[in-house]
Amino acid sequence: MRPPVPRSLPPVWKGPSGPIPTRAELGLDNRDHAPGTPTGLLSSILNSTADGLLVIDRGGRILAWNDMFVSMWNIPLGVMESRRDDEALAAVLDQVVDAEAFLGRIRELYSHPEEESFETISLKNGRIFERFSRPLGPMRDIQGRVWSFRDATIRRMAERSLRESEMRFRAFAEGAACALLIYRGEEIVFANRWAIDAFGDVLGKPYWVCVHPDDVEIVKARGRARSRRETVEGHYDVRLIDREGRLRWFEVTGSTIELDGQAAVLTTAYDITKRKEAEDHTRHVAFHDALTDLPNRALFTDRAEAALTLARRESGQVGVILLDVDRFKNVNDSLGHDAGDELIKRSADRLREVLRGSDTVARLGGDEFAILLPGLKSEETVRVARKLLEAMRQPFLVAGRELRVSASLGLAIGPQDGENVQTLLKSADTAMYRAKDAGRDRLQLFDATMNRAAIQLLELENELHEGLAHNEFALYYQPIVRAVTGELCGVEALIRWRRPDGTVREPDDFIPVAEATGLIQPLGLFVLQAACRDIALMRATLGTPLRVSVNISAAQMREPNIVGIVSNALRAASLDAGSLELEITESSALQGQERTLEALRELVAMGVAISLDDFGTGYASLDLLRRLPIKRIKIDRTFVQDVGSDRVDEAIASATIALAHQLSLEVVGEGVETEFQRHFLESHGCDLLQGHLLGRPMPRDEMTRSLQGRRTEEGVVS
Ligand code: C2E
Ligand code: CA
Ligand code: CA
Repeated sequence: MRPPVPRSLPPVWKGPSGPIPTRAELGLDNRDHAPGTPTGLLSSILNSTADGLLVIDRGGRILAWNDMFVSMWNIPLGVMESRRDDEALAAVLDQVVDAEAFLGRIRELYSHPEEESFETISLKNGRIFERFSRPLGPMRDIQGRVWSFRDATIRRMAERSLRESEMRFRAFAEGAACALLIYRGEEIVFANRWAIDAFGDVLGKPYWVCVHPDDVEIVKARGRARSRRETVEGHYDVRLIDREGRLRWFEVTGSTIELDGQAAVLTTAYDITKRKEAEDHTRHVAFHDALTDLPNRALFTDRAEAALTLARRESGQVGVILLDVDRFKNVNDSLGHDAGDELIKRSADRLREVLRGSDTVARLGGDEFAILLPGLKSEETVRVARKLLEAMRQPFLVAGRELRVSASLGLAIGPQDGENVQTLLKSADTAMYRAKDAGRDRLQLFDATMNRAAIQLLELENELHEGLAHNEFALYYQPIVRAVTGELCGVEALIRWRRPDGTVREPDDFIPVAEATGLIQPLGLFVLQAACRDIALMRATLGTPLRVSVNISAAQMREPNIVGIVSNALRAASLDAGSLELEITESSALQGQERTLEALRELVAMGVAISLDDFGTGYASLDLLRRLPIKRIKIDRTFVQDVGSDRVDEAIASATIALAHQLSLEVVGEGVETEFQRHFLESHGCDLLQGHLLGRPMPRDEMTRSLQGRRTEEGVVS
């Protein structure tokens, strides 16, 4: 039902029409006061609002207004008191920016008194008013209109600047060379162009929609924390899948913002794929061998350490194999380094082929490879090692030719053969060298016994160093006598090691270690010098000529300057060369053949005698016996020992004597302990005898005293 049309309906704004209703007629209770300046309750109500109020009746007369209205619009009180709405309207129209439009809407409302309306008015002075207008009185009996005006300048300005800053944000976001996302709750509510180009339309989707499955959990955890406005540490790297399905790395930063009064998260994601790739490349180079692209020692150590830790935790095992290509140097020397490199590369391929993905084959350098076999039983590890060995035996095609090589493998199993990677590698190395020593092209296992021996060896080596530094070595002398006459021909110098704790160690305990570690050089020098000095002294004391036999190791014979060393020792002791005999073994004579022979000849030329020690234990050939400039051979004491009990050894002893005599060599029987042995050797023509029966090894001064006694007893010394 349409309300009655107002009586006054200004086609244009013109003077008020009709009588002005009294305040009583309007039902206003401040009837005692002038209208427009209400007092009492009405006044309080009107003035308690921040809005400017104006009440006009249907006839266009001003019924009431408040102070705020007057001050907002700056309308002279006279105008208000005239009660004419056209006058008030004129004053208002003067001030609005678009008077025409404003007036148009006023007219509309005059013709529809039941309507409510709202508009925003811009004033010429820059202020912004909001106007609200609603009918006065009940719908069925509309009396007029209440106009209220609110100064919205501050709020509108704030909104505008918000809009502007949003535009600025958008401009920034669209121009950014990174993905910018805003999500609220779990939903993405904003994505910049970069993000959409990279990931497609993600609006409305959960914020982890593009995250790599492996990274979703961490991203969600951080997202939840941010939504709760908890502080989340700096930025982090995350893998995202782009719209083409490619994995890309992003550095992601998030910050909590407020969006329409709610918490939201602004996320920036910088593409760092290139940087990651560069990092990966650098890391790869740092942990791989350039020639074969196999892991290097550092990476191997890393993986082996991890495997060992796991093995310890799960009572498992880790196999470590060291593989060395046999005679690789020959390939390098004969075919050139390029061919050598090619062989290494082909070998790497072979090894890779045999192994599983969980195994690691690394190149430790040169022709040495290390293989890590985690999580296998010992037997399985051995089986893999055998496969590797077999693979290396197959011919290689290198530099256009077929090449046959082999490899020596040492296997150690952790943790029993090594608690950490270093000791495990060392164990494998020990085993590998045993494989080499045993003739190459084979697999050697490390075992705990070998480990103990290695540790003892190391300790002994250290002690030997100390012993040398502290002069703990001394020489004992054992007489060598002529068999038939019993006359003294000479003494053999035998080394003893007097430990600080008073114990004396026998040479069999430490000479092999000294030989293996190179300590035999300084030790041998000491023996030579001391023996020459001692003999010179004994000769002076006894006043008779005396010959000394000195044991020379193979390693000493290999010394290029052995001749010089010997002659220096003689000169230092003022001893003639004829008083010195060097005892060499078959093996030392065999090693380094020509040069050794040359040195021996020089020594003989000087007047030094050479004897071949431990005869019968090695592989001495008749040919060698003929070529060596030796004076005598010493039948090893193991043969002498069995004289009287072992026919074969007796035969060997007698045959050796006969053979030596054929070659015009003298024979010394060693280790003579019994009269029977002495008689046997004597009866078979053995020239000289040495052994406990004839005298034990003893210190120099004791030896001197014993010889002095013998002289007074026998009255002769030859
Ligand atoms: P070798 O050259 O065969 O020396 C003879 C060994 O037989 C000595 O043992 C000696 O003490 C021992 N012997 C002598 N008579 C008897 C006997 O009647 N019965 C038994 N069972 N043994 C007897 P030693 O002094 O323990 O020396 C062992 C080996 O150590 C030597 O064997 C020699 O190869 C080496 N050696 C000793 N001194 C030196 C040294 O100064 N330099 C080098 N390079 N090697 C040395
Ligand atoms: Ca000897
Ligand atoms: Ca001997």
